[in-house]
Amino acid sequence: MDGPVDAAPEGPAVVEDAPQAPARDIGPLVAELRAIVGDKWVYTAEHELRTYESDGLLQYRATPAAAVLPNTAEEVHAVVKACAAAEVPWVARGAGSGLSGGALPVEDGVLLVLARMKRVLEIDLDNGRVCVEPGVTNANVSAAVGPGFFYPPDPSSQIVCSIGGNVAENSGGAHCFKYGFTTNYVTGLELVLGDGEMIQLGGMEPDAPGYDLLGAFVGSEGTLGVATKIWLRVVPSPETVKTLVAFFDTTHEAGEAVSEIVQGGVVPGAIEMMDAKAVEASEQSAKAGFPIDRGAALLVELDGSARECEARFDEIVAICERNGSDDVRVARDEAERQRFWRARKAAFAAMGRISPNYFVQDGVIPRTKLPEVLGRIEALGEEYGMIVANVFHAGDGNLHPLVCYDGAVEGEAERAEELSALILDACLDAGGSITGEHGVGVDKKKHMPKMFAEEDLDAFQRLRCAFDPAGLANPGKLMPTPRLCGEVPGPYRIHPLEAAGLAERF
Ligand SMILES: Cc1cc2nc3c(=O)[nH]c(=O)nc-3n(C[C@H](O)[C@H](O)[C@H](O)COP(=O)(O)OP(=O)(O)OC[C@H]3O[C@@H](n4cnc5c(N)ncnc54)[C@H](O)[C@@H]3O)c2cc1C
Repeated sequence: MDGPVDAAPEGPAVVEDAPQAPARDIGPLVAELRAIVGDKWVYTAEHELRTYESDGLLQYRATPAAAVLPNTAEEVHAVVKACAAAEVPWVARGAGSGLSGGALPVEDGVLLVLARMKRVLEIDLDNGRVCVEPGVTNANVSAAVGPGFFYPPDPSSQIVCSIGGNVAENSGGAHCFKYGFTTNYVTGLELVLGDGEMIQLGGMEPDAPGYDLLGAFVGSEGTLGVATKIWLRVVPSPETVKTLVAFFDTTHEAGEAVSEIVQGGVVPGAIEMMDAKAVEASEQSAKAGFPIDRGAALLVELDGSARECEARFDEIVAICERNGSDDVRVARDEAERQRFWRARKAAFAAMGRISPNYFVQDGVIPRTKLPEVLGRIEALGEEYGMIVANVFHAGDGNLHPLVCYDGAVEGEAERAEELSALILDACLDAGGSITGEHGVGVDKKKHMPKMFAEEDLDAFQRLRCAFDPAGLANPGKLMPTPRLCGEVPGPYRIHPLEAAGLAERF
């Protein structure tokens, strides 16, 4: 994560919702895993497994039977094959910075930790491509191809989160408004599927023919298999970057400024907003000199050719002023720009300065509904007597309400969760979604039926069955209720296309 990490959203477990597998003797499997990766890289002792009991959403915890840390794709392949033969479920884990419980282990299962696989395998700048192992951090992809090129999707956790995790979550970040999400940059994947088969989808080329299976895998949250090699598109670094932060009395005014900027046809590299509570927390940690008595801070970054940036920048300053900002600060140099960004990127972690615990949410709304939904969130916070700080990707309408609570107070954690659910409902009512970039994981699967009909969930399940019929890859995530891949019961009926000789069953 960029900036200091002060506190995690720690607290007593709110929900013990770990996927449970029936107790089994995995001793023989562990012996096999040790033979594959070496004794040193298989952990089974309780104190060793502690590190892996949760991801960045600490409200959910579970201990796997074993954590295995392969060093190569061949070792991953052998580990998954061994799990398949033993019918033991497994969960892939990158850096464990996920915020939806996606890498929560299966108790009695195996955790496949990819952190050792952090080699950059090939750089081909002539074709704007880089091929990496899944454990490479997001920031290291840009570092590998810089300074002339960069990898645009940039989660605020970019100095720790892995590209494998980014692919699984279809991660976003501050610059996705202009540049798009992970899915727009993955051109190829080497995968090991649940049954141990190793396949490649795409590669260096921009768009392989056939169904977009690559697109299906990106964002599948580790439920379709594990990525062992990833081909990414990288783009030339912009000639100039210009950054400002404008302070407003209310988020409403700042939200109106966002709408006007976008409607005016300007496409900033980033438009990020923090409300008063988020600024208060972040300022204590990042010390960027942001005033803590204003209602909202809007960080806008333009990038591109120097001429275009100059001209557009004046327009943005004017829009901010027209919408009520009397304090617009322009970064005078790279050091000041980095200070502005530090304030934004430290915001999650700095919440520990103002609250013992917090729940991170990740809803999306149409951008034009920002003022309305922020007002609704404020009203819900007041109704529950809880602080809700907001820090978010305003250009994408991707909200991150941080619901603050004190886990030491009986019932507070449950009320915070209830309030979080109502916030997601407000996003759905506004025509939005329950997640923008953090994924469904274990945390939001109960909300899936609010967005999808049973038929839609069945279609998801059929896709999953095509990749992982035994359901061993990250079970218990994404789907609201456990489903199995199997024959539909009932007598076999000949299909009209078969009868007509136009199709055959295989
Ligand atoms: C302070 C902070 C700020 C953040 N900011 C952002 C942000 O701006 N934008 C954003 O999108 N996210 C953000 N996140 C969330 C998180 O960093 C991302 O979801 C990230 O992509 C997770 O990567 P990871 O390596 O930590 O994955 P993990 O947490 O280890 O795993 C996440 C999911 O990916 C699966 N997985 C991991 N590796 C593989 C693999 N090789 N193959 C298949 N599946 C795999 C896991 O099974 C799990 O389902 C933030 C998190 C924190 C803590």
